[in-house]
Amino acid sequence: MLATNYRGPYRIRASQKPDPVIEHPGDAIVRVTRACICGSDLHLYHGLVPDTRVGHTFGHEFVGIVEEVGSAVETLKPGDRVLVPFNIFCGSCFFCQRELYSNCHNTNAEATAAGGGIYGYSHTTGGYDGGQAEYVRVPMADVGPYKIPEDIVDDDAVLLTDALPTGYQAAEMGDIKEGDTVVVFGAGPVGIFAARSAWLFGAGRVIVVDHVDYRLDFVRRYAPCEIINFREVNDMAMHIKKMTDWLGADVCIDAVGCEAAGSLAQTITGRWTMLQAGSATALFWAINSVRKGGNVSIVGVYGPTFNAVPIGNALNKGLTMRMNQAAVKRHVPHLIEHIRQGHLNPKEIITHRVPLEEVSDAYHIFSSKYDNCIKTVLIPPRAGSARATASSIIS
Ligand code: NAD
Ligand code: ZN
Repeated sequence: MLATNYRGPYRIRASQKPDPVIEHPGDAIVRVTRACICGSDLHLYHGLVPDTRVGHTFGHEFVGIVEEVGSAVETLKPGDRVLVPFNIFCGSCFFCQRELYSNCHNTNAEATAAGGGIYGYSHTTGGYDGGQAEYVRVPMADVGPYKIPEDIVDDDAVLLTDALPTGYQAAEMGDIKEGDTVVVFGAGPVGIFAARSAWLFGAGRVIVVDHVDYRLDFVRRYAPCEIINFREVNDMAMHIKKMTDWLGADVCIDAVGCEAAGSLAQTITGRWTMLQAGSATALFWAINSVRKGGNVSIVGVYGPTFNAVPIGNALNKGLTMRMNQAAVKRHVPHLIEHIRQGHLNPKEIITHRVPLEEVSDAYHIFSSKYDNCIKTVLIPPRAGSARATASSIIS
């Protein structure tokens, strides 16, 4: 089959690999019809995630058709159209029983990892092959996959595997109260969905911070919200305080993670990807811009060893901080209702539909923020009718 093939930092291509096979009676094989590239994939692509092995198949956001099931699978059959949450989870351990699916105890053998298994996300999350491929092996197939209702189109469904539930959980973890001012750092897919979701939780005002103008323009209309280009601001915390009667925001959401731009060190060195464990600028800004007693919600991804955060400021301000990888499946049923009611239109953020063969260009364009790219969907050769919507990224 054709699948992504990681060759080293900034080098990825599509190449032929053996088809996956059923390895356990609980497995299914899914023929992928759409797979997105996520901001988390950029951390892999930029070489920031430890134990990302050459040859690894990336991709944790995909939907497809069940091709084959193992003898123990009871709820799926060949031909079912499924969305597959990015978390691989057992459904029965201490953590899964509490719906902490991203923290499953049984799907990631890495002794030091706090997280569970994730498709296509290095050996630090279990070493599972991902879905930026024609086929993918789905372990514990009775637990993770969700049959897509007839009235939900694939373009919406693929955003339910990660970006939308993650943005939604970011807002949920912010514990937004009626009328709250919510500041979202990052206008990528996750930040866009966090901003939009903040209204569903009762926000009275939503402000989004980024430095990429086309993304700020998009989120201003889509969320809708106020925007700040941080390149135009000298002191972020002071700027937010000035906008909020000198109190600070009630809730700040970090939807940026370890590759934040805008740090002093970056300005000096200009080589931010070389900074060990990346840069926590957005997290600094979130902690310093929220009011005393406020809430900071973190979904931007940080490496496990990163610890240079202004923890003293957080303590002195009496902050409540919540963070996690999203527990995708917990959110899918109510997000489907929001889509049906027209409160959320996930597929509107898709800017590129690209044949899987062009994965190298697709990563380059998403990483470089070229061509007004917000969300890219890769379409494999055997995706059936979906293939007709794919078009070459470089003309
Ligand atoms: P993305 O790369 O498309 O978007 C990140 C945005 O942040 C970009 O638009 C960038 O310009 C902006 N940015 C950079 N520095 C900034 C700063 N200092 N302040 C404000 N904005 C800044 O990625 P995405 O797909 O939206 O994902 C965002 C983050 O969420 C990533 O770290 C990703 O790994 C993480 N993520 C977490 C989960 C989870 O379950 N917790 C799931 C998906 C993604
Ligand atoms: Zn993702």
